[in-house]
Amino acid sequence: MTARRRVGILGGTFDPIHCGHLDAGTAALAALDLQELLVLPSNIPPHRPQPVASGYHRFAMVALAISGRRGWRALDLELRDDGRSYTSDTLQRLHDLGFHAQELFFVVGADAFLEIATWKNYPEVLNLAHFAVVSRRGVPIGDLPARLPALAERMRAIAPTAGRPKDRPLHESGVGHAVQGVPEASDPIRMHETVIFLIDATTADVSATAIRVARAHRESIAGMVPSAVCQHIEQHALYQDVTAAAEAGGG
Ligand code: ATP
Repeated sequence: MTARRRVGILGGTFDPIHCGHLDAGTAALAALDLQELLVLPSNIPPHRPQPVASGYHRFAMVALAISGRRGWRALDLELRDDGRSYTSDTLQRLHDLGFHAQELFFVVGADAFLEIATWKNYPEVLNLAHFAVVSRRGVPIGDLPARLPALAERMRAIAPTAGRPKDRPLHESGVGHAVQGVPEASDPIRMHETVIFLIDATTADVSATAIRVARAHRESIAGMVPSAVCQHIEQHALYQDVTAAAEAGGG
């Protein structure tokens, strides 16, 4: 039997991509021993206002941010589509391209995952990939079982640097253990199921909204984004309109 691939997917508006996104992706790569991380800027995100920067600029910034990072790849799958980008459609497209649900790990911040019940095709979307939920300041990972009790049984806490011995099935590797306060499933992690992994990593306390607002007020964004992204934003005079910066806020 050939070993399964282990591919992470980091979706988002990336308006712009920032150090918090990079920290979340890095944590998922290490914790789940992923071979690749696909970074997918969304076209028109559901549940929020239009991005300020064009898809072209957002993709360019993603490419600059991940340049030289082994295993990271920018993917324009969602940007090529018209209309709204839904995770469920994207995961289905990846299945059509030959990926199996157990090969895919959808990386998401804890703040976004709290809204999962509002996502298109919930709860089936959870069966299309493993989910790798990374803590974000203000949303500790340990709160998730209590805040999403219907999903608590599927959650497994995992150390940010756990990794996994190569070529061993997940359930044999010891990766993932039941979250405290969550009842142990009788059959811990079965290969035919997808899992919600909870990764308690420290990620930069940055948001794209804060970056847009800082830019609109002509404040420095150094340290919030990689330097190549900072340079791109300055060179192309992005996010200088105060009204647009405020309107696109939210998350
Ligand atoms: P905005 O401020 O415009 O709402 P954002 O900073 O939340 O944007 P998004 O592109 O909407 O960025 O986020 C994409 C994904 O990255 C989401 O799953 C989100 O939870 C996660 N994410 C964003 N920032 C962080 C962070 N600082 N730490 C951990 N995860 C993050």
